[in-house]
Amino acid sequence: MRNIILLGPPGAGKGTQARYLVDTKQMVQLSTGDMLRDAQAAGTEMGKKVAAIMAEGKLVTDQIVIGLIREKLQDGAEGGFIFDGFPRTLPQADALAKLLSDMDMKLDAVIEMQVDDEALVARVSGRSTCGQCGEVYHDETKPWPESGECINCGSTQVKRRPDDNAESLKTRLNEYYKKTSPLIGYYYAKGNLQRLDGLASIDEVRESISWIMGT
Ligand code: AMP
Repeated sequence: MRNIILLGPPGAGKGTQARYLVDTKQMVQLSTGDMLRDAQAAGTEMGKKVAAIMAEGKLVTDQIVIGLIREKLQDGAEGGFIFDGFPRTLPQADALAKLLSDMDMKLDAVIEMQVDDEALVARVSGRSTCGQCGEVYHDETKPWPESGECINCGSTQVKRRPDDNAESLKTRLNEYYKKTSPLIGYYYAKGNLQRLDGLASIDEVRESISWIMGT
């Protein structure tokens, strides 16, 4: 069992790599972004509360996301957890350390996926996903099939995130550099940090992650 954090700005490829690890290594993906979007889709009070903040590209409160993670950790994960988009602040990182130690678990690696801003803008602005299975598409590099059906599950439901636009992305990047990038130093000091080139191909990044995880 391996517990890892995928750390990187929006569009670095965290979700794509997490999907692969879930499919092939029995790991459980804990994406706070997905959990918050699910809460919105379900129309819960919390979902309503965070909708505008997320659309703008700001971070929601630590308290909300820590609560979500605490709940999911209870379920356990045979192959380990992939933290995707969490932690995003130093208080979240401290809370995670405490939650893991309370449950006798440890963090095996924090993988920083490095991608320059220009590539992020291009990746995020053309991004769409399948509403059914989550397969990721891109207008230029992997367009939605002409048949109109997802290559993975055949669904015709195309989804675009409301925060995948130039204005919100600017805010998301600011939030990342201001509040999340200090985690690079935090985990480096703990001896957990591993870095990889997020501009490499999806397969190359997969291989780097496997190598880091020793699997
Ligand atoms: P993501 O899908 O990871 O890009 O997250 C989408 C949005 O959800 C972010 O821009 C934030 O508004 C919110 N969010 C997700 N995870 C966190 C987190 N760990 N802390 C604060 N806000 C978060």
